[in-house]
Amino acid sequence: MSECPICKSHNCIIKDERNGKDSKEVVCEICGKYQISNTAEVTFSNKGRDLFLSYCIFQHNLHQKKPLVINTLSENTLKEYYTFPLNYKETIIKILEFIKEKEPNGFALCSENYHLFGIDTDVAMKRFITRSEDEAIFRYGLTLNDGGRYLELTAKSIKMLDSNGILSKTVFIAMSFNSELMSVYEQAIKPAIEYFGYKAERIDEVSFNDAIFDNIKEKINQCGFMIADFTDNKHGVYLEAGMGLALDKPVIFTCRDIEIDNIHFDTQHFNYIRWSDIEDFKQKLTERIQNIII
Ligand SMILES: [Zn+2]
Repeated sequence: MSECPICKSHNCIIKDERNGKDSKEVVCEICGKYQISNTAEVTFSNKGRDLFLSYCIFQHNLHQKKPLVINTLSENTLKEYYTFPLNYKETIIKILEFIKEKEPNGFALCSENYHLFGIDTDVAMKRFITRSEDEAIFRYGLTLNDGGRYLELTAKSIKMLDSNGILSKTVFIAMSFNSELMSVYEQAIKPAIEYFGYKAERIDEVSFNDAIFDNIKEKINQCGFMIADFTDNKHGVYLEAGMGLALDKPVIFTCRDIEIDNIHFDTQHFNYIRWSDIEDFKQKLTERIQNIII
């Protein structure tokens, strides 16, 4: 066992460098798996515990398959994507995500791991525990030496997990069914979504009868977020995006750049992704999704 260069945990395996690579694979019990450049390994080994980077590696692993590569410039790049520390509500969501993905029976929230959920000090952890216990979001068991507690779900948090779609892994897509845009869906939208472990859902129907409308409403209610592409200027897309906003879902507005002037004036203040071709769309969408899910 070695010491993790980032979080300083001693439950860590650093694989020996092979084939002359200039980076190593690290498997840390706290951060999870990541790659680190040799220069960064030296730099971070001489520094204290880096809560922010450990948080980024852990959160990245919850959502994506490829391990994060840490080099000496990573901190600056990651600051654009990850906020740290998080507020009370955001921490609850991070804990729920972790329980759902990895630890259905709960886990000990303690000084070794509180940063993985966006908490940055012992005092903040104790404050979080007191408040979430008072509000019956979590039930707490035994107190550990460092003031940490064993945490479990309550009826209230189980309901949060089941209902509001915060943790849903589906993405509802509203767009024109024009056959020309099928390749945009298949080659730009779907891969960008699947990269983060989400599944795209699209209703392949043109007419809005009652049964389809209910189906759409349910799918939007259950999704984690929405993508609404306004290329072709279809009325159905406005309706679905509006439903998403009314249900407090994050909605990503997109449109092919040459058609941006066709979109309805009332929606022009939204931060549209203006895309030129499939590659451009995929890249911009991936960046925007990253901002939404973390
Ligand atoms: Zn670590």
